[in-house]
Amino acid sequence: MSKNPRILPIEKKSDIPSKYRGTPIGSFAGYHNLGLPVKPFTGAQMLVGMCMDNRKHLNIPDNFAYIIRAAGANLRYSEFKISYAIGVGGVSHLALIGHTQCGMQNLAGKKAAFIRGLVKRAGWNKRQAEEHFLNFCMMFEIGSVQRFIVSEVMRLRARYPKISVAPMLYKVEDSRLYFLEDGS
Ligand SMILES: [Zn+2]
Repeated sequence: MSKNPRILPIEKKSDIPSKYRGTPIGSFAGYHNLGLPVKPFTGAQMLVGMCMDNRKHLNIPDNFAYIIRAAGANLRYSEFKISYAIGVGGVSHLALIGHTQCGMQNLAGKKAAFIRGLVKRAGWNKRQAEEHFLNFCMMFEIGSVQRFIVSEVMRLRARYPKISVAPMLYKVEDSRLYFLEDGS
């Protein structure tokens, strides 16, 4: 198995990779991590893809970004929304943000809780809940967050060749953003 992509802290402006400096992705990292002064925007500057997890808050100006939230920051099933943000929303930059402690890792280990919770709270029977889990868990399992985000970024770069796509990580432990090394 290939090793995990390195996590690159953003503590000062020069930590922002040069290919993102002066772009909305660089500004995004600056707003959230470095307290860059926010200015009002009248239109979206970029698209952010992130997990649906509740433990995340982004410090960004109003109107700054389209945001697609999907379990595990997995955008494989959100293509039309991405295309809309590009085609109609006019964005050319995308930050894909995975996060630590993501629930979409090791789904198999959550099978019993998943079924028990659906039966208890949603009014499903055990068989329905189990079939549902088995039908979808492989589609949503991400494995290693860092490796998943970088591979998803590679896929998105191939799919949308002119869009700048950055792999990022949000640590719920310190609420900060990091870039992920992507070998390009
Ligand atoms: Zn998550």
